[in-house]
Amino acid sequence: MSDTPRLTSPKEVRALLEKLGHRPNKGLGQNFLIDANILDIIANTADIQPNEAVLEIGPGLGALTERILPRAGRVTCIEKDPTMVKYLKVRLPGFTLIESDALDVDLDALFAGGITKVAANLPYSVASRLMVDISECEHRPELMSLTIQKEVAERLVSPAGSKRYGVLGILTGAFYKNTLVKKISPTCFLPPPKVWSAVVRMERRDVPVLDRAEYFAFKHLVKSCFSQRRKQIGTLLKKQGVSSVDTVLANAGIEHTDRPERIEIERWAELSRLL
Ligand code: SAM
Repeated sequence: MSDTPRLTSPKEVRALLEKLGHRPNKGLGQNFLIDANILDIIANTADIQPNEAVLEIGPGLGALTERILPRAGRVTCIEKDPTMVKYLKVRLPGFTLIESDALDVDLDALFAGGITKVAANLPYSVASRLMVDISECEHRPELMSLTIQKEVAERLVSPAGSKRYGVLGILTGAFYKNTLVKKISPTCFLPPPKVWSAVVRMERRDVPVLDRAEYFAFKHLVKSCFSQRRKQIGTLLKKQGVSSVDTVLANAGIEHTDRPERIEIERWAELSRLL
């Protein structure tokens, strides 16, 4: 092994982890990407320009970071694991490293400070939460290129009427257009996770479906209705004590008998405004 191990060589990554005395931490979702092609896809999907500031959440050993660094004007990473932080500081100079749980960082402040792109192989246990938190930021980034569980990616991109359409796709979809770029086999990671993954692209909408002042009532409505997704919307609203349900639904362009999973994001926004 050379002084700087290749992070796309399973053998060299294994040897490096052994040298660091580190066993991949399942709780932190430490499945390291070892496939150069997939790492390039994530970096390319972020479409990073030389003057741009980029955020990476969970850099790990730096496999994606070293692809982002030469493309970006400025890179900021947030990493929770102290062993990874210590190693990254030695391996890769030239970027800002925040040692913290990403859930505890004021992400909106980072975006307000000029970060416009996010590229990451997200820790799966907090991926959905982070995608929603970032979407809710006032200064949300213009583009995100993320690796997440394939099943979560499908929920993110499914249109109204499909089985996987739900809260995640609607809350993020109010601010982003989400697309699935590439499915990833477990063999592209070390250690391999139990499930398939996917790269997703989240492109900020020029005009959000609703503005921030309206958002939190919309979120509450969507979450409460999807907690009983098999019920008809008319029944759900009546149960919530809404008066003149028929008029409200007609004005929002929604059928009384529609179930939550059939109602498009724009209709949810309209319904929430009317209520
Ligand atoms: N970017 C590397 C790669 O692609 O090989 C590692 C990705 S690994 C799936 C997830 C990384 O996120 C790990 O380095 C883990 O320590 C870190 N991590 C897990 N939970 C975190 C959290 N809440 N905040 C910040 N980093 C976290």
